[in-house]
Amino acid sequence: MSVTPELSIIIPVYNEKDVLSICYARVSDVLNNLGRSYEIIFVDDGSQDGSDKALAELADKHPSIKVLYLSRNFGKEAALTAGIDYSKGDAIIFLDVDLQDPPELIPKMVDTWKDENIDVVLMRRRFREGETAIKKLTAFWFYRLINHISDFEIPTDTGDFRLMSRKAVDATKQLPERNRYMKGLFSWVGMDTKIIEYDRHPRVAGNVKQGYLKLFNLAVQGITSFSVAPLRIAVIVGLFAALFGAIFGAWIIFKAIFYGDPVHGYPSTMAVITLLGGTQLFTIGILGEYVGKIYIESKQRPNYLIKNVVQSHDIEKN
Ligand code: UDP
Ligand code: MG
Repeated sequence: MSVTPELSIIIPVYNEKDVLSICYARVSDVLNNLGRSYEIIFVDDGSQDGSDKALAELADKHPSIKVLYLSRNFGKEAALTAGIDYSKGDAIIFLDVDLQDPPELIPKMVDTWKDENIDVVLMRRRFREGETAIKKLTAFWFYRLINHISDFEIPTDTGDFRLMSRKAVDATKQLPERNRYMKGLFSWVGMDTKIIEYDRHPRVAGNVKQGYLKLFNLAVQGITSFSVAPLRIAVIVGLFAALFGAIFGAWIIFKAIFYGDPVHGYPSTMAVITLLGGTQLFTIGILGEYVGKIYIESKQRPNYLIKNVVQSHDIEKN
């Protein structure tokens, strides 16, 4: 294997013992037929189910495999970042280990990169087989919302499945932030991009590792990392509420003076108080979200920590 392989395939792994060997078999099959030099980087994101040992065994048998062991579970975004930092290929491809992103599409992605001189080959899912209606619906609305409020386009229905040239990878590495919403970071970088459509398959085995709570957090992360629109919306809502309160108050005073109406209405007072109280808590929450981000960024902690690197060749961080 040459020192700098043409392709680095980056595969994040979190408790995926059941799919590891199936994944390696399918990916290496495709890559061997492609006839280009490659490395496969598995990033073990702190698995506790024995995936770590299984990966070490795989790496032992196949010299094209590198395994990065993170010191604990840092999340998929951090795992991908680690994979990028340790990759050497002229292009990298992200792949989910559960084979929801079919490795058979790799040749097409590579052709697009080589023949058309494209820096980012993005894979857009046409169908999401085996995913619940709620997930499809929330994903649909999330992308529409985030594109509406951020300054640049994050392509709809794309995940992390993509090819990036070394130029695009190096550009992404210049973004050191701790809040890593990868799809957003990649889109922010820009570069010549081409979108290819594909059908997303169900997982081959195992369970989804990113539950709804994780996805919700990622969604909040995505929106607040790339836009201050929520703060502006809070200001506008606050302004309207205050304006409404002022007009309503003036109206009550007017009625009392000119019509002698007694001021009454405990329910209406309660309604206004709860409405305003709720709005205030919500907007303070939004504010807190941004303050929290500043707090986390200001600590300047690394995005991940590597416990161990297993492979048959020497590797140093690029
Ligand atoms: N993953 C990871 N760290 C985590 C959660 C997930 O590295 O904390 C990996 C997981 O092993 C898989 C990929 O990220 O390769 C996608 O995870 P999953 O299939 O659970 O999510 P989904 O397909 O719903 O996006
Ligand atoms: Mg999956």
